[in-house]
Amino acid sequence: MGDSAETLFERIIGGEIPADVVYQDETTFAFRDIRPQAKVHVLVVPKTRYRNLGELAAADPRLLADVARTARKVAEIEGVLESGYRVVFNTDGDAGQTVFHVHAHVLGGEPLGFFGA
Ligand code: IMP
Repeated sequence: MGDSAETLFERIIGGEIPADVVYQDETTFAFRDIRPQAKVHVLVVPKTRYRNLGELAAADPRLLADVARTARKVAEIEGVLESGYRVVFNTDGDAGQTVFHVHAHVLGGEPLGFFGA
């Protein structure tokens, strides 16, 4: 039932909630995280909703490839292709996923500490 309700990110994609859009194409949408964890922190979402990385990969591997390509495009736009960047998909509880519309966090622009503990 919760899965049928529109997520925050669908409202952002639809333009209902304003966002700082970095890039978009036919299948993906990229915008700045409202609470950046690094100098560059952009979220990449497929325009079609899947709950998490595993569901997206199983249902539509081409769309997952689109997300990966857009993450690289964002890194290029943000000028971090050479310096390096990190792509993170949080999945469920212990990872702290809060929005259940799969999204890649693209992080960079400064040395990133290792995290996970
Ligand atoms: P998650 O914790 O991996 O699900 O990531 C959700 C992300 O969405 C968090 O990093 C939030 O800071 C971010 N976020 C929440 N609301 C907004 C918004 O309205 N605009 C942009 N980013 C948001």
